[in-house]
Amino acid sequence: MGVTLRYPFVSIEAPPEYRGVPHIDPELCIGCGACVNACPPDALMRIDDLKNGTREIVLDIGRCIRCARCEEVCPTGAVKMTGRFEVASLDRRDHVEVVRLRLVRCEACGEYTDYTERQVVKALQILPEEEYDAEEIKAYSRICRRCRRKLSALGAIEASRRFAP
Ligand code: SF4
Ligand code: SF4
Repeated sequence: MGVTLRYPFVSIEAPPEYRGVPHIDPELCIGCGACVNACPPDALMRIDDLKNGTREIVLDIGRCIRCARCEEVCPTGAVKMTGRFEVASLDRRDHVEVVRLRLVRCEACGEYTDYTERQVVKALQILPEEEYDAEEIKAYSRICRRCRRKLSALGAIEASRRFAP
């Protein structure tokens, strides 16, 4: 029986257990950045543009070592290892995948926050309803940390005035 394959003249599929390059599903990604923190060779990056209110999750498979840490930590199943192994290209840009997301804009000061609209939706889906007031969380999620601190400080001052003897 011959064992010589005609690859690359005839394409072949990787065996099911083969670990090829990862891919991010742009519909499932919420932009949390967990994969970025877990990636040993910095093949994943998180780039926030606070002027235009966007976050980019950038995957550079040219740096990827196929360790699958990104797949393990992704809370939505957006990043998956594939069986793809043919990644040679003459153009470096072919190695880069970008997912773009919208950042939440603070309703109090108008600045962009450091979390995405999809992160808020996800948080509301997973927080137990009996322990959290969804409407309150929704309202708070649209106010940035700085304004939240300001509002709670003002609330505390107001309360202390009310209860002062
Ligand atoms: S497989 Fe490993 S090296 Fe490649 S992007 Fe995921 S975490 Fe980074
Ligand atoms: S961990 Fe998953 S959801 Fe979070 S940024 Fe990475 S791919 Fe997107």
